Amino acid sequence: MNKSPSAIPKNIIRPLAIITLICLALSSCGGPAASGVYDGIFITGSDAEMTGQMTAMDTFMTVSVRGGGVTADELRQCMELVPDIESRLSVTLPESEISAVNAAKGKTTAVSDMTRDIISRSLEMSAMTDGAFDITAYPLVRAWGFTAGEYRVPGEDEIESLLGLVGWEKLSLDGGGVTLPEGGMIDLGAIAKGYAGDILRDALADAGAVSALLSLGGNIVCIGSKPDGSKWRVAIRDPQDLSSYIGYVDICDTSVVTSGGYERQFTGDDGKTYWHIIDPSTGYPARSGVISSTVISEDGATADALSTALFVMGVEKAAGLRREYGSFEYILVTDDGGLVVSEGISHAFTPYGEREVVIAR
Ligand code: AMP
Ligand code: MG
Repeated sequence: MNKSPSAIPKNIIRPLAIITLICLALSSCGGPAASGVYDGIFITGSDAEMTGQMTAMDTFMTVSVRGGGVTADELRQCMELVPDIESRLSVTLPESEISAVNAAKGKTTAVSDMTRDIISRSLEMSAMTDGAFDITAYPLVRAWGFTAGEYRVPGEDEIESLLGLVGWEKLSLDGGGVTLPEGGMIDLGAIAKGYAGDILRDALADAGAVSALLSLGGNIVCIGSKPDGSKWRVAIRDPQDLSSYIGYVDICDTSVVTSGGYERQFTGDDGKTYWHIIDPSTGYPARSGVISSTVISEDGATADALSTALFVMGVEKAAGLRREYGSFEYILVTDDGGLVVSEGISHAFTPYGEREVVIAR
């Protein structure tokens, strides 16, 4: 067990805030905004530090390229990839490929290579997490009202019948396309931003960026390190006090993705809080004891899918998964305010305040 240093001096937290206020304060998905709110890319700055901003995938995104390497036009072209990805993968845009899959009533839907690839990756993540991550949970997500923002607590019978449609093994992906059972539906909301971040990162790197920080609605992706060679410092929000942080990680060339119940939740007539991450085995919002889960991985799609999965799986299963697969690190906050940090990232994580950190091995 590690005891955190007493309060982090304000002069450390302040530069932290510069990056993280861009990356995280704007990161919460908030309520389900209308999908497809893309009204162009706004680029500011100079060659030494150029920033692009846009709203896409229901969230605010910024790309900050440091130390040159790409022109403003190249930055714009790279960022334009994201609304294109969204137009294929969105569950709410009626003309998207995912909407076509969800309207297919048991028939096979032909999809593009990109959509096939992300669905295939999703199935791999389901197998890896024993179904804690499952894109076929969408009928449940919808029944709880998290898509339209019309929140409700479904009855037990309704959940029972929807559970019959859920299960990643019911989805078939072959040469012809995607087939779901009639009534089955998918939603890539727990992996799409991570996937888009990987594509954007690769495009920027190909264009010549060697130092950049990307924030796609709180999914942080970094290329290289800062121009002075120091690491990027990414703060992780405190799920119990959204104006504060649990600590920060110093990273380079990796992705950091957080899933938190606070991003989208409501209080039912019964006074209980229900959030948007559903346990596909019960049909109810996940109650694993984890209230925020951050995953660090070189692969952003993996980090995104696993941040959702670990929220469902809880502390013990998260440790088991990492022991088995190893390609990721994590920081979990439990409902008693505890921090559990996986061994491989513990050296790069600095907790804020008096928090105790349990290292998971
Ligand atoms: P994230 O913020 O990445 O954790 O993704 C949460 C979103 O993914 C939710 O708003 C749902 O659309 C969807 N979702 C909820 N529960 C699951 C689950 N167990 N597996 C996959 N997607 C889920
Ligand atoms: Mg996710």
